[in-house]
Amino acid sequence: MANGYSDGGFQLRALDNGWCGGQFEVLEALGVPHLVTTFNGPDVQTIKTHTYRAGVQVARVLGCKDAAFLDQVHGARVLIGERRGLVGAGDGLVTETPGLLLVGKSADCPLILVADPHARAVGFAHASWRATVAGVTSQLIQTMETRWDCRPADLVACICPSVGPECFEVGPEVRVAALREIGTHASAFFQPGPRKEHFDLWQANGDALQRCGLVPDNIHVAGLCTLCHDSHFPSYRGEGAAAGRFIAAIGMSQS
Ligand SMILES: [Zn+2]
Repeated sequence: MANGYSDGGFQLRALDNGWCGGQFEVLEALGVPHLVTTFNGPDVQTIKTHTYRAGVQVARVLGCKDAAFLDQVHGARVLIGERRGLVGAGDGLVTETPGLLLVGKSADCPLILVADPHARAVGFAHASWRATVAGVTSQLIQTMETRWDCRPADLVACICPSVGPECFEVGPEVRVAALREIGTHASAFFQPGPRKEHFDLWQANGDALQRCGLVPDNIHVAGLCTLCHDSHFPSYRGEGAAAGRFIAAIGMSQS
């Protein structure tokens, strides 16, 4: 599988309400409500402009009471979700509140779902290249560690469908920013391509998770590229500014 990580049993499947959505077996086994939506799901433009409305639809499907979301701004700020609706501007969201679904939205950017097997908290990071370089994934894990005493070695992380290393072309400014902010080891996340360099966001975030103390066996990459699978997922790189969004959501079970 991609970068040596397992796919966590990620599968697209028909849901009881007729939607097609993706779920990770490793999160299902922990009883963690979660879903990655597709075009056959909540309306992709509604997700973009009325995120709460779409999020509540997903919450109902998953048996959650309500939904919380972020104004995603491509940075490293992590917020705590304690009640429904817009929590604020940031790219990481964590909660311990049973029945509250955390709703991330994406068109190509990796959304990373993280769960504590001891059910202390769940969270997600919106790991766009800018947020990845800024360290959002590490900030998410550190927040779970300091606020809830989560042990990184126990945490399970799942990287949702997103633009894959074979498709993500970037300009030279991305490498410069990555080496400056992440460190020189970030050069391993770049590969030459036919036109431009390619940046491997899956590898970059997997590495960030391992540096925080997660074990490779608990890091999973769905491995589905949203640009290659644009019949399932809105893609900013494929459709441009008009692209809608899909949701990746995770919550604490109510029981
Ligand atoms: Zn691709």
